[in-house]
Amino acid sequence: MKIIVASFQCESNSKAKLHPQKHDFEYFKGEDIFKKLVVKEVFEKNGFEVVPSIYAVALPSATVERDTYEYYAEQILDTVRENSDAEGVFIFFHGSMEVEEIGSGELYLLKQIRKIVSKDCLIALSLDAHANITDELCDYADIISGFKTVPHTDQAETQMRSANALAYCLKNGVKPYAKMVRVPFLLKNDTLQTAYEPLKSLIEETVALEKTDEIFTANLFLGHCWIDAPNTSASTLVCATSEKKAETVAKDLANKLWATRNSYKFLCEAELPEECVKRAIAGKEKRIFITDSGDNTTAGAEGDTTGILRLFLTENPKKKTCVAGITDYDTVNGFWDKKDGEEVYLKSFDKTGVIKCHGEILGWTKEIIGRSLTISFGNIDAVFTEYRSAFIEKGNFDKANVDLLSYEIVVVKLGYLFTELKPYADRELFALSDGASCVELKRLGLKKIVRPMYPLDEFDWKA
Ligand SMILES: [Zn+2]
Repeated sequence: MKIIVASFQCESNSKAKLHPQKHDFEYFKGEDIFKKLVVKEVFEKNGFEVVPSIYAVALPSATVERDTYEYYAEQILDTVRENSDAEGVFIFFHGSMEVEEIGSGELYLLKQIRKIVSKDCLIALSLDAHANITDELCDYADIISGFKTVPHTDQAETQMRSANALAYCLKNGVKPYAKMVRVPFLLKNDTLQTAYEPLKSLIEETVALEKTDEIFTANLFLGHCWIDAPNTSASTLVCATSEKKAETVAKDLANKLWATRNSYKFLCEAELPEECVKRAIAGKEKRIFITDSGDNTTAGAEGDTTGILRLFLTENPKKKTCVAGITDYDTVNGFWDKKDGEEVYLKSFDKTGVIKCHGEILGWTKEIIGRSLTISFGNIDAVFTEYRSAFIEKGNFDKANVDLLSYEIVVVKLGYLFTELKPYADRELFALSDGASCVELKRLGLKKIVRPMYPLDEFDWKA
């Protein structure tokens, strides 16, 4: 009995301009995909033949262009065509991939797969907690599990939940039923974190439900507000041994999730950039982080805005300051041949700086994707990267050859701080800056989303 395994992921942002190109995807094929996916052993242990397809994962970006999408989707479909007798398919998607002219990239691929495999073939998915679930997803997938953590730390466990359920159902001839309920709210992504109430208790409830006999997975999907599409919203999704059970539990979770809609607030100081810069300079804490949330590359933005760097250049702080991960191909390549310590003039800032160090960019999936150049302006070090990057952990600073521990103020292009950076932050300031990942929903101008939608509309709702 065969199970096909693949992964294809890129979270989209409708306002961002840089579409991911083929080379932006970290790519493996065949057995090498198991450098990244953890499900092989569980399938083999249960006596299945595992057929690896591809792993193609990119940093969140603008919508995916059709030819880039088809380049990877076709490779997965080729594997499915060559193994059309497979009894199971496992795919690790993001769940918010928006493809030009197509819409949901995940749904489109599932529809193609269903045309090839037998009607009894079970399809299992693992998804990001920020998946925007389409109304039809459960018509094409049998088992679906989503991350239970935001910031995300349970990618492996989430893959295993779907893989274990798939192996169990195939071995025992059990038919799983998946049911989704759209919850009509769309909140600022960065206010939704699972370590805090009310999400903490709701997630615990899903864990308890999954321990019961009839339920394979119980999921809360929080939605991804930066895509203008009809499937953009929160949802709940339950996979169970009967349709009725899946529906009843999904509705119950949906009502509970809806009831929390007024409870989400920023979990740190959230202020306009000018105020964040002032507070960081005046703050007494050992190390203060500012997140440039409007230009958050982990939400698809370009990472090329320099507003906060310019504010610091004007303030000329006494504190050692690092502004990390500004996408600027021309600066990195224009000055790459200069030696450390050499002076350079940056026309766009009308400033002379000093080359501090040459380095590398650690990519989204921890591979090296290009070069970085750090230029000092007095106490301010600006880390420029030739391609889009996300400074989500100390390793990103290490690869760029800058010592994170030497700074009192650190600016990164994120929304919430990733778990890996938290230990280095004695205080966090969330800068409400402009850009493709601006957190003000009303400023996003979403036209295709389902209405009514809280908080854009005031209304009563029950699943
Ligand atoms: Zn996510």
